[in-house]
Amino acid sequence: MTFKKTALLLLVFYLITGSIFAQNNTKVNGFQGDIYVNRFKDITVHTYVAKDDFLTNAHIFETKNHLIIHDVFQKKDDCLDFLKYIKSLKKEVKAIYISHEHDDHWLGLCYFKEYPVYATPSVINYIRKEGPGIYKKRQEQLGENLPAELNVSIKELLFEDEIIDGVLFRNFQINEGGPVYLELPHQKILVSHHMMPYGMHPIIPKDINGRIEQLKKIKTKNYKLLLAGHGKPATNENIDEFIVYLQKANSSLKTATHYEDVKHELVNLQPTWEASMLLDRSLPNFFIKAEHFPLNDLKGLELNGYKAKASNYQGLDCIEAYWDKNDNNESFIEISKTSFTNGTIELELLGTPGPYVKETSWTFLGLAFRIQNDSTYECIYIRPSAGRDNDMESRNFAVQYTSHPYYTWQVQKNESPGKYVAYYDLTKNSWTKIKIKVNGQKAELYINDSKQPVLLVNDLKMGENISGGVGLWVGASTLGRYRNLTITYN
Ligand SMILES: [Zn+2]
Repeated sequence: MTFKKTALLLLVFYLITGSIFAQNNTKVNGFQGDIYVNRFKDITVHTYVAKDDFLTNAHIFETKNHLIIHDVFQKKDDCLDFLKYIKSLKKEVKAIYISHEHDDHWLGLCYFKEYPVYATPSVINYIRKEGPGIYKKRQEQLGENLPAELNVSIKELLFEDEIIDGVLFRNFQINEGGPVYLELPHQKILVSHHMMPYGMHPIIPKDINGRIEQLKKIKTKNYKLLLAGHGKPATNENIDEFIVYLQKANSSLKTATHYEDVKHELVNLQPTWEASMLLDRSLPNFFIKAEHFPLNDLKGLELNGYKAKASNYQGLDCIEAYWDKNDNNESFIEISKTSFTNGTIELELLGTPGPYVKETSWTFLGLAFRIQNDSTYECIYIRPSAGRDNDMESRNFAVQYTSHPYYTWQVQKNESPGKYVAYYDLTKNSWTKIKIKVNGQKAELYINDSKQPVLLVNDLKMGENISGGVGLWVGASTLGRYRNLTITYN
């Protein structure tokens, strides 16, 4: 083939595909960030990775005539360079979506004023409320790199499928208040923020097993391109590698005495991954000895269908909660992101009859721990009305241990009467302080600083050394009040 013919063929190829270099993950030169380009039939995805400590990125979806953009940046120079790249593509910008509230993805929005920007109402409210404070704080940290001004003109993102130049775009949220995900179902592309930042050491999530499960689910969908808000573009094949990494973190955290040891193992496992200092941010959290929750607002609580609010009772700040239906539901409000195996849990509580029962009705409230899901957990609770009942058998049911779903109070009553209940002089309508010590398969309940345990459990039914959440347990017919939760980890 002559040179002329080759050149002609290349030209035809260029006209058809739009590029001579149509391979995937092509890097683009001439910009300060790293840019990866992935081409598909109807769409080209450009991932701009900033040269910052967190490998923060933004994605451009290029259809035949339009650009759809996912996130911008925090620093002025990243934003201006990203803007230069957008302009170089010479197409109309249809929308910029802001994925979530962290300002590394939106602080520099003032440079993108000519384009329509969309975010969820909670992100819009957050930026309006907290934006000025964050901008001021960043002034000191960023200096010359602070964006020129704070731009808060953002439209509300509607979660509707949109077809742009024949390409279906689907924005969705996995949980309310979480980041906005973007899926292109036909091209098999997913932007799932923080789920799997690739080519870098990630923030290790508190619920490592939960993340692994989510990744396994994503893997079944066989995405061709997986994008996060940080790091490099990944494919379905990279998921296993990431899962192995998380499993290593999990096992190492169980045996290590210092977070540096865990970091060392993870860096050895993936020596080429960048941003290892991110491990310094998340790993120390796993070595926290105690956590205190005053429970004076609903922040960090998973209400699980309960009606709850911040309150003040007998002069003490607390939260109150009840089940707003006239049925026998008993469950818990979970404290988000807790992972408790062994240690102590302390709580002050007070129960009065809920809105659907008589004023003389009995109340039940306590602590759920080692929670696996809504129906699988250990539980110790008190019955304040039983403490001074006239019937001795009732008094002997003042405190109780149950394990769900298999070892409820009904089952215990038949199978091992008297073994998981005890008497204590509880009084109605007064704050009671409970402390539960858990170790392996043993649990002890102490009340109002008693020297000796009021209740002993030597065979926790779920087994020993199970990790799980901590929750405020609310029994049927009870309006529960809770304050001062302290979890100490062994
Ligand atoms: Zn982020």
